[in-house]
Amino acid sequence: MNRAVHFQGVDVPDYEKVLNCMRCGMCLPHCPTYSLTRIERSSPRGRIALIRAVADGRLELTQGVEKELYFCLDCRACESACPAGVHVGYLIEAGRSQAERCRPHSFLDRAIKNLLFNYLFVYTPRLERIAFLMRLYQKTGLRKVVQKSGILSLFPAVFRFMEEFTPDGMELPLRRLVAEEIPAQGEEKARVGFFLGCMMSIFFGRCCRATIDLLTRSGCRVVIPKAVLCCGAPLASEGYRHRVPDLARFNIDLFEKQNVDYIVTDCAACGCSLKEYRELLKDNPQYAERAEHFSAKVRDISEFLASWPHYPKPVGGQMPEKMAGRGSGDGRNLNRPLRITYDQPCHLQHAQGISKQPHSLLKAIPGIEFVDLPESDWCCGSAGVYNITHYETSMKILDRKMDNIEKVAPDLLVTANPGCLLQLQYGVKKRNLDTRVCHITELLSTAQGNTIGR
Ligand code: SF4
Ligand code: SF4
Repeated sequence: MNRAVHFQGVDVPDYEKVLNCMRCGMCLPHCPTYSLTRIERSSPRGRIALIRAVADGRLELTQGVEKELYFCLDCRACESACPAGVHVGYLIEAGRSQAERCRPHSFLDRAIKNLLFNYLFVYTPRLERIAFLMRLYQKTGLRKVVQKSGILSLFPAVFRFMEEFTPDGMELPLRRLVAEEIPAQGEEKARVGFFLGCMMSIFFGRCCRATIDLLTRSGCRVVIPKAVLCCGAPLASEGYRHRVPDLARFNIDLFEKQNVDYIVTDCAACGCSLKEYRELLKDNPQYAERAEHFSAKVRDISEFLASWPHYPKPVGGQMPEKMAGRGSGDGRNLNRPLRITYDQPCHLQHAQGISKQPHSLLKAIPGIEFVDLPESDWCCGSAGVYNITHYETSMKILDRKMDNIEKVAPDLLVTANPGCLLQLQYGVKKRNLDTRVCHITELLSTAQGNTIGR
């Protein structure tokens, strides 16, 4: 006989937060999944109603409820639209955590998720070993052989996507290459801790170097604790929220020893997660106050630079033009200003309310043409591992994004999160656009005269 499944144990969704929803429906037009299905249960309001029904005991935590919770992108666009300030992201994550631990799952499902979220993501050097194998796959030429052989066409579309998704030319993870402390250029104005995100360090070391360059140019001594662990964002999003406090305590201990004035990140998802440590540990007597101090110091790089009085004015000139070119970053001569647009990572705009700062930093670069991207606040479909777990839906959402990008036809498409960078690079490649995707710090650093960002 099947056992009835209800919420229990840790991470039961806070009922007070559930009750904050007044069911006004103002979030509905902003929800990408609702826009695809037009079904109430795929909307923020519908998902909160499901969580409430389970909490009230009117509904079991069924497979259908679990499916709907995972169908959500956790993009938080609903939070920006909600007049009642409902923390939908938290409710979804807590609901997934419950579903993960209280509901039965197949052995294979359990094994894959445990491997990912109980083994790989909780200790970044293990992720780096996987990255080493991916690098080997590229460097030995095996990738080219596989791609030319046509063997990939025998696999389901999602496998082909995973193969194509990884950018060429992977470098060593930045953690292996960078110094633990880098002095300020000129007079030191602050001591800044740089949070080395797993995905940024593995896939986009050059962008992290650009971030460090911008900080040192701005009079910051940059401290990079290499022992840092994952911020916890992928775990919270995939039903392993209960593992995040361990990571949070470790990272708090680590940064406390560095005695820094700020903790800066160039990953939107990391920034969101680090700022939520205060909420996550608020009931822990040893860590509540320390988590509050930690989170209060966290800044996204664009948030930091936009308000930092020692950030030098960009020189611009011809320099950013060297960044234009098809995907690979090949230079070309333009007889017009470089056309730039910006796609807003959900975890920057919706989860942290940071939108004006990156726009103002980009618009301040002399000699460029900045064009607003229509629906730049709409998710690109990356959403952690959503593009793998919900491949077809993710591609529909990416299509809408790419249609908007084609309308603008930028030389450079700028964003600020590793998942978005990978997803947008894939979209640009699929449509064969003459657009290069880059992280905001690559462009800002190049506009300062640096050559790190190519
Ligand atoms: S989540 Fe917010 S916007 Fe959506 S129905 Fe509830 S109160 Fe309204
Ligand atoms: S987080 Fe995004 S996908 Fe999920 S309910 Fe809110 S708007 Fe919809």
